[in-house]
Amino acid sequence: MFNRSCPTGKIVYASLPIAEDVLIELWSRNEYNSAIAPIAVYRCDDCGFYHLTSKGPMNDKLSKAISSGQINRQREANRWEDKFKKR
Ligand SMILES: [Zn+2]
Repeated sequence: MFNRSCPTGKIVYASLPIAEDVLIELWSRNEYNSAIAPIAVYRCDDCGFYHLTSKGPMNDKLSKAISSGQINRQREANRWEDKFKKR
């Protein structure tokens, strides 16, 4: 990864598409469903890069990934992967 930091101490993403990919990956890997999950990406005034946040309206890409079933399919795939790994 690249070496940038932010005074907020949050993880820094270099661009919006990267942060959105991470957001969707997180949702695919974790059984998120509550208000404490990260749901959006924003550009930070302090560092000029992107962070994830649990506040604000849900990110468009994430919202589409959930409503299209992409997240659920990914979760299902990950569950199978985990089963195979445990053997
Ligand atoms: Zn920042």
